[in-house]
Amino acid sequence: MDPIIKIKLNLSILSFKALINRECSGRVEQFHSLRCGNMIDQFFEGNKVFIREDFEKDRKRYDNLAQSQSPKTLWIGCADSRIDPERITHAKAGELFVHRNIANIVPLQDWNFASVLEYAVAHLKVENIVICGHSECGGIKALDKEMQDSYIPLWINNAREAQIRVDAKISPPKNAEEEKRRLTEIEKENVRLQIEHLRTYPIVKKAEEENKVWIHGLYFYLETGVLEELR
Ligand SMILES: [Zn+2]
Repeated sequence: MDPIIKIKLNLSILSFKALINRECSGRVEQFHSLRCGNMIDQFFEGNKVFIREDFEKDRKRYDNLAQSQSPKTLWIGCADSRIDPERITHAKAGELFVHRNIANIVPLQDWNFASVLEYAVAHLKVENIVICGHSECGGIKALDKEMQDSYIPLWINNAREAQIRVDAKISPPKNAEEEKRRLTEIEKENVRLQIEHLRTYPIVKKAEEENKVWIHGLYFYLETGVLEELR
């Protein structure tokens, strides 16, 4: 190929790539779009910030964590993207052993959950087990809906009893405010219900009787950022 034509061709390819890159970053800035793989790039950029601002500044701690973990708390929370346990408690890496699922459920027949629980209590020997519910929980709201999904209705049935208990003790809500109050009560009752489920596990029952583990029900308010202990 004529060298001049080859140079022109290469320049055209470079300008085309630059145009595509500009187009992608422009769209992302405007729409925070997932297109162009930009969200993944954001994760890598965020990881650089983590290494610079956190990891390198606390190197000794991370060196120790690379060898082993000894968290004192098993945290069972909702998978909701707005409730990051470490963020809302300002906990550091290595402090919380975490299990999250829709509506912070303690299922009675689920090997995934049971193995996390067994590992936390028998091997890590956590001293606290936290079950944390929250306001505006989509899983709890779904209890009131007719759903066509395959798995979600089956899963949230693990919280059905909380809805039944609350509805049995209040009159039907007459407005949006009363409905919000009802849902808050169900979200909180669900935490109590899941604590009951937790205590049916022999490993937990034994650890609690021997004062080796303490169970706490918590509730997080998305509107204020406040975390409270339920009684
Ligand atoms: Zn939730």
